[in-house]
Amino acid sequence: MTSFNFRQLNLALSRYSGAQRLFRLWSKGPTVLFYHGVEERVFDPVVQLLHMSLPLFERQVAYLRKHRDVISLNYLYDCIANGWKLDPRQVVLTFDDGYKNNLRIVGPLLSALKLPFAIFVSTRHIEEGQRLSTYWIRVALLYTEKKTVNLRSTNQSFSLTSREGRIAAAGRVVEVAKRAPLHQAEQIRNECIDQLTSGQRAELNNRFASDELMGWDDLGKLVAMGATVGSHCHDHCILHANQSDEEVRRQLTESKAAIEKHFGECEYLAYPNGTLSDISEVAYDAARAVRFRMGLTTISGEVTQNTDCLLMPRIHGATKYEEFCYLLNRSSRYNAAYQAARLRLLPGSESEHLA
Ligand SMILES: [Zn+2]
Repeated sequence: MTSFNFRQLNLALSRYSGAQRLFRLWSKGPTVLFYHGVEERVFDPVVQLLHMSLPLFERQVAYLRKHRDVISLNYLYDCIANGWKLDPRQVVLTFDDGYKNNLRIVGPLLSALKLPFAIFVSTRHIEEGQRLSTYWIRVALLYTEKKTVNLRSTNQSFSLTSREGRIAAAGRVVEVAKRAPLHQAEQIRNECIDQLTSGQRAELNNRFASDELMGWDDLGKLVAMGATVGSHCHDHCILHANQSDEEVRRQLTESKAAIEKHFGECEYLAYPNGTLSDISEVAYDAARAVRFRMGLTTISGEVTQNTDCLLMPRIHGATKYEEFCYLLNRSSRYNAAYQAARLRLLPGSESEHLA
């Protein structure tokens, strides 16, 4: 699979005549929001990139209770599968990665309000109490005492003499790791961890407790609060075309089996990273073959009766309050990009849209 580019997007769009007019005619549908962690205090927004502040989250939840109808992922699936009416007021709440603060903060808050939610976990990290590779890359490059770092796994050296330089280095290494096959991504993570002494690792993990992931017992408590648990792959492996076919299938089957061992049927998948270039044709086909009934992306858009359940659009919820309200009310502007993504993975699907 070639990676996504704008030429491809334009090409796909040009296959529709009057596409823009058509998009405007489509009625707005439900929105699936995605979050990661929620913390009382975020004191390093680079390391704690994936955590939003509790006051902002509470404000967003208050908005949703007033203006929207929060439904479960199961109910959304039933609506699509049975052709039931989709309502633009409907919103689904999802949380990726399985941070411990989902149990401490999110679960109690949402269950007290009787709002359903879904959590997507990387099963090896849950099993072994590990943190994600991207956390280690960020924390190591921002906090190592070394002033230069040579990472053989990326063939690059980085000058770490300023905070700006450290942030840029972390950003570049994260991007390389995200595009790499899993074994190389793990080498990069290990090499980054090696830049810290064991004492520093312990101190930083304590300081950034936000990035600790749940264990199976923690997840069980969230299930008791009404959470639906879905797969986020076994190793948080990004299912792009640089992964082998076997690896992609292993990620899906092992994570599904592990979740089912603890909580019964696992029917939902959130593709790690989840952009168009993070979902290969092999991944899309494998998700269907192992019988996930929904695959959730991070491609922005709203849900319609034409939405492919293995290519569900989601909107990032963790934004400034004003932007959050804007995105919720203007999500249809993303539909062109979403339909282009769908076209690439489902050639010949255009007739469905025009019907
Ligand atoms: Zn993730």
